[in-house]
Amino acid sequence: MMPTDDLAAIAHLDWKTVRCQCEMHGCDKDCKSNAAVQVEFHALDHCNTQAADTKINHFGNYTFLLCLKCLSDLTIVVAQHLVRLNMIGRYTCGTCGAPARDTRPDVLREVKQL
Ligand SMILES: [Zn+2]
Ligand SMILES: [Zn+2]
Ligand SMILES: [Zn+2]
Repeated sequence: MMPTDDLAAIAHLDWKTVRCQCEMHGCDKDCKSNAAVQVEFHALDHCNTQAADTKINHFGNYTFLLCLKCLSDLTIVVAQHLVRLNMIGRYTCGTCGAPARDTRPDVLREVKQL
């Protein structure tokens, strides 16, 4: 029989039962849904942040798991943010210069089904 800690670790790896990481996309709904997609989200204007407590990977992206509802909420928020940036003549990430015109794929770099 496996030690309980190992079983817990395996359960944690099973993304199909992982809860939506709602707080990661700045949503305050405290969503209880199961995650359905893995999202790679460019950390616009702070993608070079190297602090150990950030979740930004070496591509300058956050990676987190969301349910479909929160994915659609996030998509809307990003689109609105880009409209505001574009209105003041900004079309790139202020940090790395990557394009920031389209929600996908400029900011939502990748959306993978779990
Ligand atoms: Zn959410
Ligand atoms: Zn959610
Ligand atoms: Zn960047």
